[in-house]
Amino acid sequence: MNVLIVYAHPEPKSFNGALKDLAVAVLTDEGHQVKVSDLYAMNFKAAADRDDFLMLDNPDFFKYQLEQGHASKTNTFSKDIKEEQEKLLWADFVIFQFPLWWYSVPAILKGWFDRVFASGFVYGQRIGRYDKGGFQGRKAMVSMTTGSPREAFPPYGMDGDIHEKILYPINHGMLYFAGLEPVEPFIAWTPARDEDARIRYLEDYKKRLQNLSAIPSIPYHPTVHYDEHHQLKLEYR
Ligand SMILES: Cc1cc2nc3c(=O)[nH]c(=O)nc-3n(C[C@H](O)[C@H](O)[C@H](O)COP(=O)(O)OP(=O)(O)OC[C@H]3O[C@@H](n4cnc5c(N)ncnc54)[C@H](O)[C@@H]3O)c2cc1C
Repeated sequence: MNVLIVYAHPEPKSFNGALKDLAVAVLTDEGHQVKVSDLYAMNFKAAADRDDFLMLDNPDFFKYQLEQGHASKTNTFSKDIKEEQEKLLWADFVIFQFPLWWYSVPAILKGWFDRVFASGFVYGQRIGRYDKGGFQGRKAMVSMTTGSPREAFPPYGMDGDIHEKILYPINHGMLYFAGLEPVEPFIAWTPARDEDARIRYLEDYKKRLQNLSAIPSIPYHPTVHYDEHHQLKLEYR
C-alpha cells in the first residue's frame, strides 16, 4: 500500500516523533511505500487565506469555500496545498500522528485540514460527502497521544468520551466526511509519565502496523441511513 503519515509535533525527540519514526521503519519493512508530511519541519502554513489561491474568482468578497471550489476546477491552489493534495491522491492509507491539544488536533494540523481537504477536491455538490466523499476506497487512522490518563475518557469521564466526543469531530467530521474509511484509532495515554508504558505502546503500535489491512474500521452509518432532515432513520437507532 501507499501510506501517507501526516505528522504534527514540534519536537523530533518527542514520543509522537518516536511513533512516527517507528511507523516509517515498520511499514517500509512490510513492503509499503511511505511518505511523511512533517508539518512543523515543513513550516506548514495553518491559516486559510487569500494566499492559498493563485487567482481569485471574486477578489471583492473573499469566500474561502467558493474559492476552493474555483481552484479545484482551475487547478489554481498554492503550491503547498497542491503538493499535499497530490500526496493524498497517491495514498491508499493515511495516518495522522499528533498529540491531543485542547481536545483536538494541534492548530498546524487543523490548518492542514482546512486548506488541503478542499471543497471541490475531497467533497462538494458534485463529489458528495461521507460514504460518497471524494476519497472513498482509502483508509485513515488517528494515532494520538494524551496528557490525561485513560480513565478520564470513558463516556462519563471528566474529559469526555474519547470516541463520541473527542474523536468524532476528527474521524467522522473530517476523515469520513471526505470519504475516507476511518479505522480504530491508536492511542498512547499519558506517555510522558511511564517508561514501561511507552515501551508497551511502541510494541503494540508495531504489531498493529504489521497488519495494517486487518485494523477494524469504525462502523459509521452510510448517508442512506439518514432521512431528508439529516436524522438517523428510526430503524438504525
Ligand atoms: C497546547 C496543549 C494543549 C494540550 N491539551 C491537552 C488536552 O486537551 N488533553 C490532554 O489529554 N492532553 C493535552 N495536552 C498534553 C499533550 O497531549 C501531551 O503532552 C502529549 O500528548 C504527550 O505526547 P508527546 O509526544 O508530546 O510526549 P513527550 O513529552 O515528547 O514524550 C514523553 C516521553 O517519551 C520519551 N520518548 C521519546 N521517544 C521515546 C522512545 N523511542 N522510547 C521511549 N520513550 C521515548 C520522551 O523522552 C519523553 O520523556 C496538551 C498539551 C499542550 C502543549
